[in-house]
Amino acid sequence: MVSAHEALDRLHEGNLRFVANVRGSDAFVSHTRRVELASGQQPFAIILGCSDSRVPAEIVFDQGLGDLFVIRVAGNIVAPSQVGSVEFAAERYHTRLVVVLGHSQCGAILATLEELRTATGKHSHNLRAIVDRVRPAIEGLLATDLRDDPDALVREAVRANIRASVDHLRHGSQVLEELIRKEGLLVVGAEYSLDTGCVDFFDGASEDR
Ligand SMILES: [Zn+2]
Repeated sequence: MVSAHEALDRLHEGNLRFVANVRGSDAFVSHTRRVELASGQQPFAIILGCSDSRVPAEIVFDQGLGDLFVIRVAGNIVAPSQVGSVEFAAERYHTRLVVVLGHSQCGAILATLEELRTATGKHSHNLRAIVDRVRPAIEGLLATDLRDDPDALVREAVRANIRASVDHLRHGSQVLEELIRKEGLLVVGAEYSLDTGCVDFFDGASEDR
């Protein structure tokens, strides 16, 4: 079993390779393990990321087949099916690291801010389900000075939304709480920069290291 901290190191190193535009041999070689993997998997990290086409977890962390258990949904929100997916992987595969991976200029955050400012009501019921998940984490920011600084507002809103998802996973599931308390499960928040390609593990990654 790969510990949470070992898993974090692997992701960090993989992201450094991605930024440097080099591929590790492990990700490349993993394709030769396809048949072997057909009988079972042991992903070393669970990633809850945004669906944005520019932030595919396997690529930005330079990982291969069987390495990451990835859940993607616009705005990296946490609804029951996301919690269930994380519980499933953490219990069944003994994966000990969960990363909520948000990113700069996230469209779900921009849409929610737009909705908070103008309340257009133009979103479908289904899209509204996403906006409504994001809203509680960021609406308070509009009551601060940030409302006059659009760029800073988006930056802070992206991070606040990631923190809210991390918090939900840490405290919104008995299964995960138990795994955190007894089995060393770690839930961290990270932000990917579209500009630099770097992933900043800003929430929960440096404790106990
Ligand atoms: Zn996004």
